[in-house]
Amino acid sequence: MATKTKKVKAAGRLGVRYGRSVRSKLASVETKQRVKQECPFCKKKKAKRVSKGIWVCLKCKKKFASDVFYLEKSIAAQTEERIAKAAKKEKKRVEKKDTGVQKDKSGRNALARKSKKTSK
Ligand SMILES: [Zn+2]
Repeated sequence: MATKTKKVKAAGRLGVRYGRSVRSKLASVETKQRVKQECPFCKKKKAKRVSKGIWVCLKCKKKFASDVFYLEKSIAAQTEERIAKAAKKEKKRVEKKDTGVQKDKSGRNALARKSKKTSK
């Protein structure tokens, strides 16, 4: 008998049931969830799924609740990253202008630069 799990991998255990697209979707999720994920605490790829949304890190022994199937960067972390990126961009823009008096988020930096210039 030829291998029956060629197309849908681990979902082959379901046999002919549930339809092909459902089985292939399940397989794509399961292959992602069964590899060790990055632990949000120690940043090592050692987090293992225990149950729905429950993860344990084999390195730092932390048990935590998070995403259900596989760990992705949380929306909060993504947003923080974007804000940091935007702030960096803004800082660069302000530095490029370098007209002295700048009144925005990085106003303090502009003032510091200005005082440095005057002290020279
Ligand atoms: Zn960890």
